[in-house]
Amino acid sequence: MLLKEMELRHFRNYDHLEVTFTPGVNVLIGENAQGKTNLLEAIHYLALVRSHRTNKDKELVEWHAQNAILKGKVERQTGTVPLEIQLGKEGKQVKVNHLPQSRLSTYIGNLNVVLFAPEDLALVKGAPALRRQFMNVEFGQISSRYLYNLSHFNDALYQRNQYLKQLRSRQATDRILLEVLSDQLATFGSEVTAVRYRLVKRLEQWAQPLHEEISQQKEKLQLKYVSSLMIDDQSEVADLQEQLQTLLRINIEKEIAAGTTLVGPQRDDLHFLVNDNNVQHFGSQGQQRTTALAVKLAEIDLMQEQTGEYPLLLLDDVLSELDNDRQTHLLTAIQDKVQTFLTTTSLSGVARQLIKAPTIYQIHHGQ
Ligand code: ATP
Ligand code: MG
Repeated sequence: MLLKEMELRHFRNYDHLEVTFTPGVNVLIGENAQGKTNLLEAIHYLALVRSHRTNKDKELVEWHAQNAILKGKVERQTGTVPLEIQLGKEGKQVKVNHLPQSRLSTYIGNLNVVLFAPEDLALVKGAPALRRQFMNVEFGQISSRYLYNLSHFNDALYQRNQYLKQLRSRQATDRILLEVLSDQLATFGSEVTAVRYRLVKRLEQWAQPLHEEISQQKEKLQLKYVSSLMIDDQSEVADLQEQLQTLLRINIEKEIAAGTTLVGPQRDDLHFLVNDNNVQHFGSQGQQRTTALAVKLAEIDLMQEQTGEYPLLLLDDVLSELDNDRQTHLLTAIQDKVQTFLTTTSLSGVARQLIKAPTIYQIHHGQ
């Protein structure tokens, strides 16, 4: 898919911008603090209705303005899809084909993006919550059913945790309501677990050859979805649901004492193993970088496999973070395949040689 045009009003330091993009590599060049990352953030927001660097939508609206508007024209195999988002004090509204959407699960998936920023190294090194977020963002773009189940799961989890706290403080005593919430949690939680397990396996298939090539050694990368449930290729959703229900039942007194839910996909993790060792704990900085790069590149292929279209690739300042070899792998893997947006303060070295016919956008003070 391609993002052909974008229009911004009052988004970050863009007062008003109308821009057309090209199918190949779009290079956003400018000095520091001019709006390069802001523009990538706008594309990311248009795709996912979330920023990659803040949870506070307020920060995205230009300082003196009330509302920000983002519009884009996405070209897909099935035709052109206009997208629109308005955000501000009164929340946000999203539109597809000029029609307001009440659920994000019908909006997300129209424009798919894979973002790679220096912070992404934290995917391997950081806390499990980052890897769960990674799975939610990537798999949510692939499957609207996943998003639907995830959002119901999160609602049920929130309510159940509130209720567990009430039981703990004896403001509530009714165990029947807790059972209802546990059933809901198991229904949606088992769906979430099943999709994560299945897509992590597919992601591994794509990531392994990429990793082997980038590491230039016969190192074997494995991706493991680590669940509180017993799960394998034969597991059915109904079986996972029963397991989760049983675990919730067994842990009930512990959960009331803790005032929170202790089992379920909100506690799961994704492990990256290189030659059977967890890269998070035992990998060198270089191995962690290689793993993160292979996994990001694999996402591009996974999305193509699952949706029939390549996503957009957003690269924020990553060239400066990668050595020449890794830059070469990255740039040769993507060219002629995915529409790419790349920010940099100057196009030099390997990138200058390897990017064929880049379109250059000079960014200065939000223009
Ligand atoms: P670098 O090369 O340092 O990464 P950059 O070009 O990526 O720079 P951005 O992060 O895109 O820089 O833009 C930062 C600028 O945007 C800053 O000058 C900041 O003050 C401005 N900015 C951020 N949020 C807003 C906002 N809500 N309204 C107006 N300006 C904002
Ligand atoms: Mg930046």
